[in-house]
Amino acid sequence: MSQLKRITVLGSGVLGGQIAWHSAYKGKSAVVYDISETALANCRRAHAQYAEIYQAEIGASLEAIQQTQARLRYTCDLAEAVAEVDLVIEAVPEVPAIKTSVYQQMAPLLPAHTLIVTNSSTLLPRDFAAATGRPDKYCALHYANLIWRLNMVEIMAHPGTAERTLSEVAEFAIETGMVPIPVQKEQNGYVLNTWFVALQNAAQTLVTNGVATPEMVDRTFLINNPGSKIGPMGMMDVVGMKTVYDVCTYWGHVNQDAQMLANADYIKTHFLDKGKLGLQTGEGYYRYPTPAYSRPDFLAVPGLSAVPEIVRLAAKAQR
Ligand code: NAD
Repeated sequence: MSQLKRITVLGSGVLGGQIAWHSAYKGKSAVVYDISETALANCRRAHAQYAEIYQAEIGASLEAIQQTQARLRYTCDLAEAVAEVDLVIEAVPEVPAIKTSVYQQMAPLLPAHTLIVTNSSTLLPRDFAAATGRPDKYCALHYANLIWRLNMVEIMAHPGTAERTLSEVAEFAIETGMVPIPVQKEQNGYVLNTWFVALQNAAQTLVTNGVATPEMVDRTFLINNPGSKIGPMGMMDVVGMKTVYDVCTYWGHVNQDAQMLANADYIKTHFLDKGKLGLQTGEGYYRYPTPAYSRPDFLAVPGLSAVPEIVRLAAKAQR
């Protein structure tokens, strides 16, 4: 049994909300901290949805759901959030300055024994280790979105992480029902996002540059990956447009990648500026709860009545 019984999740957005809920479901006491009361209110709403999803999809009993709810607390007070905590899981935006500032604010407030992990999708723990004030007790623990179905976590150390930290974090992962994936070298994007971000960026490039519609991109992906339920554009909705935007903006600047910056700009104009953040707000590339790709006919050979629209799109290449 690991010593990590009380956790605090920093950031109550898409992933922070899932990690807190799931860890509480698996028996951990969980405090959810955010700078925004509105974000915390949204998180509570997401938790009410997870209560239904866990019963419907993984057979959680009503008693287990009530116990999960009893183990959760929500606060905008950082000192209170971390006063008695064994493990802090940081899930604030994928913006280095925000992560650094949260670690620095938290450092003097933490109990001496507390471990910290980052759920960053693409950044390296070595770049934040000093800001935590306890580099030996810090590493990355990266969850996948839709945690109750995609139950894996990537564990990635930086050069100063203590082995004891890794073993406690690995025990915590296993106790909370996760398959641990040890990453043997520090790598931006770990195993998962090394290809997942590349896939999303390639798919978004096709749309940004007007090569194909989002639905055609997903149709192509799904026909060629039999058994998959969701394509790259649908996946962006699940990740959340704000995080997709943050990743494209940061890596576009770091790599001086003009296409990635154009993709960020497209996401901003078409989604963020319109309040369409993806699944969490009910609309992104698709409308929820029944996105077009979930329709039985999405991958079917169309009727001949579809020909004019196919010609309209294909004829664009003539110009
Ligand atoms: P999000 O935008 O949904 O949520 C971020 C939350 O952090 C918001 O509620 C915001 O109010 C809060 N926040 C902002 N500044 C803060 C601060 N200073 N202190 C505390 N809270 C603050 O983002 P997300 O998609 O949940 O991503 C969070 C982290 O998890 C990122 O590092 C991201 O790369 C990573 N991640 C995301 C996914 C995904 O699919 N969305 C998957 C794995 C990892």
